[in-house]
Amino acid sequence: MSEQNKFDFDLFVIGAGSGGVRAARMAAQTGARVAAAEGAPLGGTCVNLGCIPKKLYSYAAHYAEAFEESHGYGWEGEKPVLNWETLKRQRATEISRLNGVYENLFKGAGVELIRGWAKLQDPNTVLLDNGKAYTARHILIATGGKPVVPDVPGKEYVITSNEIFDLPEFPQRLLVVGGGYIASEFASIFNGLGSRVVQLYRSEQILRGFDREIRDFVAGEMRKAGVDIRTNTNIASVEKTPEGLKATLEDGSVLVADQILYATGRAPNIKGLGFEALGGQTAKNGAIKVNERYQTSIPSIFALGDVTDRVQLTPVALAEAMVLVDDLFGKKQKKMSYEYIPTAVFTHPNIGTVGYSEEEARDKFGDIRVFRSEFRPLKHTLSGSAARVFMKLIVDVASDKVVGMHMAGDDAGEIIQGFAVAVKAGVTKAGFDSTIGIHPTAAEEFVTMRG
Ligand code: FAD
Ligand code: NDP
Repeated sequence: MSEQNKFDFDLFVIGAGSGGVRAARMAAQTGARVAAAEGAPLGGTCVNLGCIPKKLYSYAAHYAEAFEESHGYGWEGEKPVLNWETLKRQRATEISRLNGVYENLFKGAGVELIRGWAKLQDPNTVLLDNGKAYTARHILIATGGKPVVPDVPGKEYVITSNEIFDLPEFPQRLLVVGGGYIASEFASIFNGLGSRVVQLYRSEQILRGFDREIRDFVAGEMRKAGVDIRTNTNIASVEKTPEGLKATLEDGSVLVADQILYATGRAPNIKGLGFEALGGQTAKNGAIKVNERYQTSIPSIFALGDVTDRVQLTPVALAEAMVLVDDLFGKKQKKMSYEYIPTAVFTHPNIGTVGYSEEEARDKFGDIRVFRSEFRPLKHTLSGSAARVFMKLIVDVASDKVVGMHMAGDDAGEIIQGFAVAVKAGVTKAGFDSTIGIHPTAAEEFVTMRG
């Protein structure tokens, strides 16, 4: 028996989420014998409980302001009301469709899908919860992450992003805890959908890690839109009362809400996997430690995506999977770069960003030039909305390279995605200046910043 055929599979993937699906499909397309185990619907967090349903709800929320603003353009009539049941049903239908698409992708590529929860039996054997064991030359752990709720008395009454999409009743009063991506996005979304939202953040400004001016601008715009953001505050305990969930804050004040969403970070999903029992190394927070080729401390076992807690974004998990498959079954030429990863936060307004914040750029490059622009978009000259747009370019003086781009406004993610190609390729400010704008757009402001 050849070395290759002494195993049932060349690659066994645990977890069919963003990274796992991509790795399994791409590996199978090279001719490798691939299996993937998944205990939940296919597609992982992004498809089922993350990016996709979140973006659908964000679209739903944006209609509220669109109805309002349309009056300035002559549209008449009462503001429509949200039917929460319809929104949930429509979302569920679309997600089921996507689950089917993923299944077909596996079929098309020849990946054997094994339904169930998997764990490691030894460095080359995976055991399913139905008792069946499979051997593989390589095993990939792509089990993602799960929400973490701190130990607050009454934590059993709160929800996480896993539950929010399917709440039986629409929460008229929503308390959101946290200041990161998830907290800020859901605060905006449910505010748009019609909840009265209070967002509590433990430190002095939400969205830590983003450019300071962007943080201040977005917090200001979110407040203008109706989100009651309260900083330097946290919940001490939660109780269930006939009036609703009663949150007592650390300063003793009390807030009552229909739901309390904790969006206080996510932890790598390694419970029950048996990785540590085999001697596999993890970081303090449980993240699986890997080298630059995604190999764990057990040579036949690899890991990528959220379970390694590097950058928790779907396109990053996908890119890591492409590098791994190239390494294991391809030409071994691909490299993953974690610099200039563009990202968007689907707050209202959206944030789009690539590269360094002003604060980081000052530390890294020393001498920088900052260009900024804040304006009322053309659309709102008639709509009556007070919403504004903010844009910022950071340039390294020594090289003239654009090392940071930040935008808060409509379609910021769409706009920054395009520019990110140029920034990643090392575009200079002179390159921006020589580019003709597209008029009238908000994005043209990026190529006309001179001051
Ligand atoms: P996952 O997609 O989480 O997949 C892991 C899979 O492994 C799951 O399907 C799980 O059921 C399965 N699994 C776990 N353990 C086992 C086991 N023992 N046996 C079998 N199967 C197992 N990223 C973006 O880029 N853009 C966004 O807009 C965005 N929005 C988000 C919104 C929310 C609310 C959340 C929570 C996340 C969001 N993310 C977003 C992050 C993104 O979803 C993750 O970075 C991405 O899904 C990580 O992919 P992954 O393959 O590492 O893990
Ligand atoms: P984040 O790590 O982004 O944010 C966690 C927030 O919770 C921070 O504001 C943190 O405060 C706060 N926090 C942590 N512990 C406590 C506590 N004990 N009490 C009160 N507050 C606390 O995690 P998220 O859960 O928002 O998102 C996880 C990841 O998922 C993101 O980092 C992102 O990579 C990904 N994601 C991407 C999205 C996108 O691409 N649009 C959307 C959603 C998620 P502090 O700042 O002080 O640490």
